[in-house]
Amino acid sequence: KQGAEVDGVAFYSEDMNAGMHERMRIESGLREALGSGQLLLHYQPKFSIDEGRIIGAEALVRWKHPEHGLIPPGDFIPLAEATGLVVQVGEWVLEAVCAQAQAWKRAGLAPIRLAVNVSAREFTATLPHRVQDTLRRYDLEPAWLELEITESTLMHNIDRVIAIMDRVSALGVTLSLDDFGTGYSSLSYLKRFPIDTLKIDRSFTTGIPSDTNDCAIASTIISIANQLALRVIAEGVETTEQLAFLQRSGCNEVQGYLFSRPLPPLDFERTLREKGWA
Ligand code: C2E
Ligand code: CA
Ligand code: CA
Ligand code: CA
Repeated sequence: KQGAEVDGVAFYSEDMNAGMHERMRIESGLREALGSGQLLLHYQPKFSIDEGRIIGAEALVRWKHPEHGLIPPGDFIPLAEATGLVVQVGEWVLEAVCAQAQAWKRAGLAPIRLAVNVSAREFTATLPHRVQDTLRRYDLEPAWLELEITESTLMHNIDRVIAIMDRVSALGVTLSLDDFGTGYSSLSYLKRFPIDTLKIDRSFTTGIPSDTNDCAIASTIISIANQLALRVIAEGVETTEQLAFLQRSGCNEVQGYLFSRPLPPLDFERTLREKGWA
């Protein structure tokens, strides 16, 4: 690694070139993927502890690359965010989720909330209209849709962000605050955001029950949610011990490998039918 540091800024001449070429290769590949149907969605069930059933699912994007196989979002979403291409990815995801919801609705399934991850870059004044228009085109009630927004999205230009959230919320679409506890949002904002759900990040769930700090953080988030009359979901639940702790602490919903991995649409639908939901 050839590195030089000037005023605390690192310059990696050769690595940087290699990195740039790699990035450009991924970027043009992703553009092509968008145009040629290489993106697909998996759905991870959200399970209600209170109701004892699947009440929704998170849509998670994957890139089915012709040579490299199934690429996880962690390998291309950060780059898509850096280049702005995530806006097109997000448009594709919303469209695909609503098309899927319409198919499930027509197949006679009762509405469940399908959650879409929304990046900060997508969180613009045109978002509420795009959401409304897409729901209308697919003839969907807003109860089918949930948007997951990360804390960092909310930190720039708070008043503008709240105005956009208010417009989305007014449509009847559910909003949840993703990766909660990992960002820098002030608790005082919680009462200003029109959110319905706090989502406890997997980094906290992982430490339950052995790490006392993670336990304390998780149960504090749950109690804040309960006291603010927000719903609360824990992601990354892998063990029955974690489930027991979360249930005892008053958590409403859970998501994680203990219940199900993210599934291709047909497998998700089969799971719903097997559990007698449909
Ligand atoms: P996230 O929103 O925090 O999503 C949760 C991630 O945890 C998913 O990874 C999911 O597969 C994984 N996960 C769920 N349960 C468990 C578990 O029990 N154990 C473990 N080890 N992992 C679990 P995935 O699908 O690789 O997605 C990674 C991230 O990529 C997501 O984190 C989200 O930030 C981003 N992402 C995924 N789809 C989209 C999308 O359509 N748009 C945008 N903007 N970002 C997306
Ligand atoms: Ca999420
Ligand atoms: Ca997370
Ligand atoms: Ca609300």
